[in-house]
Amino acid sequence: MRYIPPTFTDLKDMAAIDVARLTEDEARTILENILWPDGPMCPHCKSRNATRINGKSQKVRDGLLQCNECRGQFTVTVGTVMHRSHITLRQWVQAFHSMCSHKKGVSALQLQRNLGLKSYQAAWHLAHRIRFAMRETPLKKALKGTVEVDETYVGGKSRLGKRGRGSERKTPVVALVERGGRILTRPVERVSAKALKAAIRQNVRKDARIMTDDFSSYQGLEREFKGGHEIVNHGEREYVRGDVHVNSAESFFALLKRGVHGTFHHVSKTHLHRYCDEFGFRWDHRKVTDGERTVAAIRGVTGKRLLYKEH
Ligand SMILES: [Zn+2]
Repeated sequence: MRYIPPTFTDLKDMAAIDVARLTEDEARTILENILWPDGPMCPHCKSRNATRINGKSQKVRDGLLQCNECRGQFTVTVGTVMHRSHITLRQWVQAFHSMCSHKKGVSALQLQRNLGLKSYQAAWHLAHRIRFAMRETPLKKALKGTVEVDETYVGGKSRLGKRGRGSERKTPVVALVERGGRILTRPVERVSAKALKAAIRQNVRKDARIMTDDFSSYQGLEREFKGGHEIVNHGEREYVRGDVHVNSAESFFALLKRGVHGTFHHVSKTHLHRYCDEFGFRWDHRKVTDGERTVAAIRGVTGKRLLYKEH
């Protein structure tokens, strides 16, 4: 059978093998199509009136445009998490695709090998920038309907560390899961009633129905949420009662832990929130193809460059 090379313009339909074959120009076109669906926009003054400076001269960077309003120059990466990196656009697209395709994540070492990056550090920073693009906190829309709330302990340097509540080696992570929908997940300092309830109040609509286990910090939520507060009594080995359970949250934690312990081996407390962003993003986009998920992640790169170092 004769092989006809496809033309690459839409990431949505591409498999990993196609993504790996992208040229730098194709990768740029793909990024521009995703980030500028209505044509190039100047990141300095938001004008859509820009001219491509074509690369007749060797001195002109590939993909450079000039704004006809403010006269500023820009490329598709200006003002995004991809700005001023030494990583090529085809490596960026590949890295996004790779991190969006692997349920348990991809280690920096694996990324370094797959992308042919010079250093482990470069791969590590690349992965963190992608996690930052995947971040969606605070939530744009509060969670609604039936919302499961649960907490777990993640990380810890030693396998011998105590498990469960009260462990000092591990970091508590809370998850708020809209059943059949989105998730908000992040590490918390402690699993006090104050901290857990603050997370719920900030991110869940008042008409929601809350489901938790019998952990005492959740007591009293029925007074705040119109849909009520249902409790599954884990203490009495009850895990499901009708539609009362926190199984969605527990499925998410199982994935997060397999990633943190299996793929990344050790995640420090300082960086745990980034992994929560990554796993939360994949959860939110679990029902679409790898390509569609990649496009969604790339859309998150805008406006985050300046914030990156702070998080
Ligand atoms: Zn401008």
